[in-house]
Amino acid sequence: MTQEIRFDQLGLDARLIAAVTESGYTHPTPVQAQAIPAVLAGTDLLVSSRTGSGKTAAFMLPALHRLANNTASGRGPRVLVLSPTRELATQITDAARKYSGQLKQVRTVSILGGMPYPVQNRMLSKPYEILVATPGRLIDQMSSGRVDLSRVEMLVLDEADRMLDMGFIEDVERIAAATPAGRQTLLFSATMDKEIIRLSRDLLRDPTRIEATSQKASHENIDQRLHYVDNLAHKNRLLAHLLRDIELNQAIVFTATKRDADALASDLTGQGHAAAALHGDMHQGARNRTLEGLRRGRFRVLVATDVAARGIDVPGISHVINYDLPKMAEDYVHRIGRTGRAGNKGIAISLASGRDLVQLQRIERFTGKSITVHTIEGFEPKAPIRPQPQASKGRRPGGRPQQPGGRTEGRPARNGNNPGPWFKNERGTQARKRMGG
Ligand code: ADP
Ligand code: MG
Repeated sequence: MTQEIRFDQLGLDARLIAAVTESGYTHPTPVQAQAIPAVLAGTDLLVSSRTGSGKTAAFMLPALHRLANNTASGRGPRVLVLSPTRELATQITDAARKYSGQLKQVRTVSILGGMPYPVQNRMLSKPYEILVATPGRLIDQMSSGRVDLSRVEMLVLDEADRMLDMGFIEDVERIAAATPAGRQTLLFSATMDKEIIRLSRDLLRDPTRIEATSQKASHENIDQRLHYVDNLAHKNRLLAHLLRDIELNQAIVFTATKRDADALASDLTGQGHAAAALHGDMHQGARNRTLEGLRRGRFRVLVATDVAARGIDVPGISHVINYDLPKMAEDYVHRIGRTGRAGNKGIAISLASGRDLVQLQRIERFTGKSITVHTIEGFEPKAPIRPQPQASKGRRPGGRPQQPGGRTEGRPARNGNNPGPWFKNERGTQARKRMGG
């Protein structure tokens, strides 16, 4: 049984065990318990495991073990991690630094799009062992001769499905071709489809296949709800109501476009919410500040697009709200995985109109699970859009009576000592404005 396994039984360096213990981890997650010994044994890995299952440590700990226990001189990275987005790459870099705190000789560098070249060039001119990169910027730096991949011992492709979705396949293959053929290659993906299998055939040698938790069977800790709306005005009223829920600690609201993310974030700010937008058109500095603000609780609502929100790991996110349904069914899984991190409970709410039925079906077919329809008193759709077998009229699953109009008076704040800045205008806000432009 994987849950019985302890970190000190995996064969990792004692300094790494100390670091994970310090991080507050008591036991390895299933993917860690399976992947770590396999990586230490030197085999290639093809891993499918749901978001939030602890994949970062599953590759970073054995990578650090290798670096800690045999030194090598030379230039360029010994471990190369490719990641689809800058945010995710930053999280991986932070994790590497956290776990390698006691390994003074191990340095991690990240090169991401949007980072000023002089800063990056300076980092690359010093010795380092681990390089975390987004594919596009790495290709740039390879072309300019600043990165030498000839001593890469381990290549990690994180969120490989997303890299393919984002059109990085050629970049990834070019990068892999610049590394030694004898390297160890680890491919991680939340989903496993034909494209991934094809990529793995190209890049992996006789891989060990690990399926820690199938994507479909997962997310049991996330309460998935569906609210039907008649039109945009109804959607906005319902969103305003949902955001007034005192049980909502932090939320990511997904929109279909960058423009909508900006417009909705500014409307919500106008209504008194501590809201911010996050999308790919923002400068890196602004994106970092926004994420840091979310992490520190300065923002309660993040309005984001799929690409920008990919891989965000902020424990305070209690709710994911699909203001627009995702275009690709896989993205639904990635979106809802932003909540319910590390075994917490989460709530994922999709707002859909009659026009979204086909897309809804596609999502439900993909997840193999039908999303429970909910209605809230005062916010019911005029006409039922499809049969609502499990509708919870006027009540929430928790059994607490719904308060019409979102009145929250008299209910204690979840965190009485520090209600956070977002309570300043909690009452009486009405969605008068058109949101989402
Ligand atoms: P994934 O890449 O699979 O989406 P992450 O590596 O980002 O997942 O990990 C998700 C969260 O779980 C992070 O906050 C991480 O710190 C935490 N975590 C990872 N491993 C453990 C563990 N063994 N015990 C407790 N929490 C863990
Ligand atoms: Mg990850």
